[in-house]
Amino acid sequence: MSAPKRIAIVGGGVAGLASAYWLSKHGFKVKLYERHREIGFNPDGFRCGEAHFVRAEEGIIPPKNAISKAVKGILLRTCNKKYIVLPKKELNGTMVVLHKPKFLRFLAEIAEREGAEIITGRKIRRKQDLGDADFILDASGCPPLFKPLNRKRLGITYQETIENCNIYPKDFLEQHWLQHEMGYLWIFPKDDRTRTVNLGVGWLLNTKKRGRNAPKMTPKKFLERWKREKGVEGEIVRSTAGLVPLGYQRPLLAENIVFVGDAGIGADELTGGGISASVAQRKGIASLPLA
Ligand SMILES: Cc1cc2nc3c(=O)[nH]c(=O)nc-3n(C[C@H](O)[C@H](O)[C@H](O)COP(=O)(O)OP(=O)(O)OC[C@H]3O[C@@H](n4cnc5c(N)ncnc54)[C@H](O)[C@@H]3O)c2cc1C
Repeated sequence: MSAPKRIAIVGGGVAGLASAYWLSKHGFKVKLYERHREIGFNPDGFRCGEAHFVRAEEGIIPPKNAISKAVKGILLRTCNKKYIVLPKKELNGTMVVLHKPKFLRFLAEIAEREGAEIITGRKIRRKQDLGDADFILDASGCPPLFKPLNRKRLGITYQETIENCNIYPKDFLEQHWLQHEMGYLWIFPKDDRTRTVNLGVGWLLNTKKRGRNAPKMTPKKFLERWKREKGVEGEIVRSTAGLVPLGYQRPLLAENIVFVGDAGIGADELTGGGISASVAQRKGIASLPLA
């Protein structure tokens, strides 16, 4: 019997950890490197609206303690019209808002249970830092560590976590499609007791694709203006910003490096669904010639 293939994964975000779990489960020898000292409990752990769509047939279901709130669906506002988007399959609330650090810890635990080795506090700078792995998974987020690609469609996001917010949409994830900006604004409920929301905005960075009337300002300034106009009140307890890739593409293989998650695949342009994309990439990995 031939020895199991050795896989080195760069990045302990949702993509790296989900890949570590699936690959270990399928007999690969996995070592994952995360630059922060703790999985999940670092600034990247919070860098997300945390909406997640669970589909039973597609694998990883978050445990109850990693779910902040289950919601009924999405309330989508676009061009003065309102739509309700309901999940197709109900599974204890198939749409959830995660507690992302706890979800990441959970992924790390199930990956380790399958035999993956997770090394924290190790920043990878070049291929040689990864020893003699047969394949490398670049799951280092956006922009990725190893980059042979010329990605033209990048999104930029800004989000505030607000407590005691006077616009708390209890049962739905609310999304406003921003026509001119080619992007969206989201209001995600997190906690009924404290009326905490994640309120954020994101759009294409490439200004040529944005409409002629799109305001020339940062997402942070846009959100501040929007809040003033809508009379939004509450205490900002955290704010975060980041680049996200937009538009789906197949997982990429360059030499022996596979790009997964934000490093390779991309988020859904309408929903920003980067977390559920990790499931798609898992399927993609399975179809790559790693074995
Ligand atoms: C403001 C905001 C809101 C969002 N909202 C949502 C949402 O509601 N729902 C959703 O599904 N998606 C959302 N997204 C997108 C989602 O966050 C990403 O798609 C997802 O986190 C990507 O996961 P990832 O594992 O690919 O990358 P990341 O989460 O970026 O993880 C990369 C990991 O790699 C580590 N790393 C990086 N470089 C190195 C290195 N050199 N050596 C070792 N480790 C390294 C980092 O520390 C990090 O832990 C949002 C994104 C932003 C910015």
